[in-house]
Amino acid sequence: MLRLAIQKSGRLSEDSLKLIRECGISFINSSLKLKTESTNFPLEILYLRDDDIPGYVADGVADIGIVGENVLVEEGMQHLAVEQLGFSKCRLSLAVPKSDSYSSISDLQGKSIATSYPKILQTYLTENGVQANIHTISGSVEIAPSIGLADAICDIVSSGSTLISNGLREVERVFKSQAVLIANGGLDAEKQEILNKLLFRIHAVQRAQKAKYILLNAPNEKIEEISQLLPGAKSPSILPLAEKGWSSLHSVVNEDDFWEIIEKLKEAGAQGILVVPIEKMII
Ligand code: ATP
Ligand code: ZN
Repeated sequence: MLRLAIQKSGRLSEDSLKLIRECGISFINSSLKLKTESTNFPLEILYLRDDDIPGYVADGVADIGIVGENVLVEEGMQHLAVEQLGFSKCRLSLAVPKSDSYSSISDLQGKSIATSYPKILQTYLTENGVQANIHTISGSVEIAPSIGLADAICDIVSSGSTLISNGLREVERVFKSQAVLIANGGLDAEKQEILNKLLFRIHAVQRAQKAKYILLNAPNEKIEEISQLLPGAKSPSILPLAEKGWSSLHSVVNEDDFWEIIEKLKEAGAQGILVVPIEKMII
């Protein structure tokens, strides 16, 4: 049995549970419970505050966990990281009141900055040769300048709308973060094997998210040219159509290359192009 710690309720919770479900792991989720056991995989889920997750994993109370890199690095626990998970993307940024003039980081020399991430901020300021007074506060950081607590703030930003509504302007990006899977360094062989199985499933889910299945019809004389445009997992599958002289080509394309490929396929004579999502992808 492997113990996974995830955030009980917050911005990581929903996507963490979604990932586990997409891995085919079933469990009964109750917001009132502190832990739950999967009904079809040797996994127990503990629901905790995100800040407590690295410590619990380091102590071995939980074997693995999902947490933001911002929290992991702030707590000095980077060594627990196994891999990035690609969700809960955000950044830690410095912001100043929008009416203040600001041209570079050296403008913060001697100023006071409110944040919940003093270590990450201190590292950044030191790297940039700036000395400032850091006020550590645990929440509502964005109101600090308006109540006179600090000249600037360093806080989590995703779209920037919270900053704007508090009359602030983002001036420096300090740290980029996303959810990360962490693990205790001393897992026994049985737990390590379960973790490997879980990672195998996570990779299949992640690959599928980036890939699209593409089907198209093409005149036979264009198959070669069109195949060149469809790298796919290996090479495209080619099936004859009922209509003579035509074939159906099936392949996989990367989401990032998608529009560019579609244009080229049309130019090469492809018709009836269908693009469909892939649920899991094992290579
Ligand atoms: P807890 O009650 O568990 O301590 P919290 O209030 O500290 O929760 P949340 O606001 O739920 O934390 O954020 C959890 C994590 O989600 C953050 O540490 C960060 O990694 C990520 N995150 C925070 N804000 C955003 C956002 N706006 N967009 C995307 N991810 C975010
Ligand atoms: Zn927290």
